Amino acid sequence: MDPYDYKNSYELFERAQKVIPGGIFMPRTPLFVTYGEFPVFMERGEGAHFWDIDGNEFIDFMCSYGAVGIGYNHPKVEEAARAQLEKFNSSTIPGALWVELAEFLIEEIPMADWVAYGKNGSDVTTYAAMVARNFTGKPGIARMKGAYHGLHHWCIASDIGQPPEYKTHVYDFEFNDVEDLEELVSEKKDVLAGVFLTPVGHWAMHDQEEPIPGWFEKVREICDREGILMMIDDIRAGFRIDYRGSHRYYSEVEPDILCFAKTIANGYPISVALCREKLFELSKKVYWSATHFYSAVPMAAAMACMKVIKEDGLIEKIRKDGERLMNTLRGQAKAYGLSASVTGHPSMPYMTFADDPSLEKMRCFCGHAARRGVFMHPHHNWFVSAALTEEDLEKTFEVTEACFKLLKEKYG
Ligand code: PMP
Repeated sequence: MDPYDYKNSYELFERAQKVIPGGIFMPRTPLFVTYGEFPVFMERGEGAHFWDIDGNEFIDFMCSYGAVGIGYNHPKVEEAARAQLEKFNSSTIPGALWVELAEFLIEEIPMADWVAYGKNGSDVTTYAAMVARNFTGKPGIARMKGAYHGLHHWCIASDIGQPPEYKTHVYDFEFNDVEDLEELVSEKKDVLAGVFLTPVGHWAMHDQEEPIPGWFEKVREICDREGILMMIDDIRAGFRIDYRGSHRYYSEVEPDILCFAKTIANGYPISVALCREKLFELSKKVYWSATHFYSAVPMAAAMACMKVIKEDGLIEKIRKDGERLMNTLRGQAKAYGLSASVTGHPSMPYMTFADDPSLEKMRCFCGHAARRGVFMHPHHNWFVSAALTEEDLEKTFEVTEACFKLLKEKYG
């Protein structure tokens, strides 16, 4: 097979760079991966596949960065969204779905007593921080060092364009390090409102980490002891690891606030903060509203998507497919004498190579894979689509085999 050509994509990217800063915003720009090796613009999607504007077809291991978890154009989600769209989407007063989805979430997710809506993940992590600060009367938020919670002022990774003091009350601790958290809490307990966790360490550009046994229990214990809220940002991992919240795959412990976005509505824009009863009364005072928070189409999509995930057993399916992917990659790398580390929960794995601190080998591997129809990101954890077929997996393994061979030839 001849590797793909991306003529139309890169011509359009030239135009994009003249009218949008950077052409495509920073983390998703093709300038960041291996320029020329990846498609830039998409034409359409179906199941676990998408086609770029040059007509090339890809098996997608990024799933819109986790948002399209059950496949592009899922018939049941699209049918629910279309049926609502025929009635209305944006509206002067909310529709019944506003209440029905909240009731549904409370019914389905064990820790949920009440619900707040947003659009992006950043909306609801910010909301969680506000609820915690209001409830405790303290300003501090502790978070796992290197964890991503979005682009709002309190947590954005960059300092460009905002006063540094906006992050004054945010403190870091190491994931899976109880002693480090204890130390931070003993130093800052008078100012700490909440501890934010992601359920797994889904770091960019690094091996992935799962929680050590007892981690959630210990965090819960510390939070209860000190009157600090425990919050879980399940925006990226949500509905991939455990339907009840990803932490439940590892523990019985529940947080005070649990945030979902991405997979919840298979790509329709909606995010939710699910909260415990004790936070309800005081949270009535937290100002929260935006034009599109009330849109009804994403609410219909969310309800349909969660039903499909549960009824079709998709979390189990992506775990099994992910395990196969991880084991196959390990076996293929070994057969070529390459030292690859394939880490993470199987529904969202990532690979790194030994002696590859700049990720050059990963960019080479993923670039070759893209040009042969398998889209894997060299810097970001991957997302296994619930729409993958047996044929997709076989084709993927053929391509990854070829990529390991090319890597061996290039780097020895
Ligand atoms: N938290 C996590 C763990 C995320 O992965 C993301 C998005 N990648 C966010 C928060 C922010 O979500 P959004 O980009 O939708 O604002």
